[in-house]
Amino acid sequence: MASGGAPTISAGDLEKYGYCPLNWWRSLGTSDGLGPETVEGERRHEEVAAELKGIEVHEIRAKESERMVMYFAVAATIVAVFGMAFFTPASVQITQILIIVALIWILAAVFFLYRAETLVTREQKLYAERTIVVFSIVAGIIAGVAVSFRETDPSLAQATVGAAVGWLVGASWFLVRSLKSLEVARSAREKHRVGDAAIPYVDSEVEKPKLFASKRHGLTGRPDAVLLAGEVHVPVEVKTGRTPRGPLFSHILQIAAYCLLMEEEFGKPPPYGIIRYDRASHEIEYNDDLRKMVLGKMDEMRTALARGGGVHRNHNRPGKCAGCSRREGCPERLA
Ligand code: SF4
Repeated sequence: MASGGAPTISAGDLEKYGYCPLNWWRSLGTSDGLGPETVEGERRHEEVAAELKGIEVHEIRAKESERMVMYFAVAATIVAVFGMAFFTPASVQITQILIIVALIWILAAVFFLYRAETLVTREQKLYAERTIVVFSIVAGIIAGVAVSFRETDPSLAQATVGAAVGWLVGASWFLVRSLKSLEVARSAREKHRVGDAAIPYVDSEVEKPKLFASKRHGLTGRPDAVLLAGEVHVPVEVKTGRTPRGPLFSHILQIAAYCLLMEEEFGKPPPYGIIRYDRASHEIEYNDDLRKMVLGKMDEMRTALARGGGVHRNHNRPGKCAGCSRREGCPERLA
């Protein structure tokens, strides 16, 4: 209920009302999701939700792997310095081979680090960490070279240098793992056109995240996703199936309702909401006119509820009825 006692309306109700008032009226008290198109739509929605969620999962995995690279690189540096320090002059050749191997690994690591930087925008802190890793490895090897000509314990030296190379292999493995995760996250970001924005909210049937609600307006809704662009929360609605030439009125009404919910929840109106079709994406400007339109439609719906009926088809398009999920038994259907 709204603060004034009026019935609560969902963003989904607004979408149905926008499609055809009779569609909304006939949906009251029934459950959605029975038709084959709806089932397929739900399946696609879950697929999109899983991919969007996957972005966060892969980026977290990449960060964890990068931390492991740090540990492995530092350990390798320490072990290498000790190992090389124990080499005798007779083993200089082995030392040189191991140093070359180590250098190849370092070069590979630097290359991967560079690649990682070009894949996605990373925080400055992370960049500094990577630079430290590279410099610590190089510094360690140089130190190792310098001390490797001293005469000490050769067998202990060989074992430790072998261990150091092993650590470097480990570090590189984590780098590759990190890059793979970043690649997956990057291609999912590209596919869903979410740029670098954080995705703090993804709707899914399985997890049923928070229901946004405005007591003031008696409005509720769960957008498919919310992007955090700077300080504003931008709702995203994903529409599966055919891609229309332009955004449909019913979808505009729904995304406007989500924008209103974002404004109420976070105290800042988003500049736009996003409607995403399979082959097109539209940023719908959220302004005073759109806000008034949502509130106006909600008033119309509440008036209809108060009088207990009198809701009719508001179009003359047979094609719309042909694609309507509630055409079975509809007294005003045109197809
Ligand atoms: S069949 Fe046509 S008139 Fe009936 S609810 Fe659907 S769109 Fe409206």
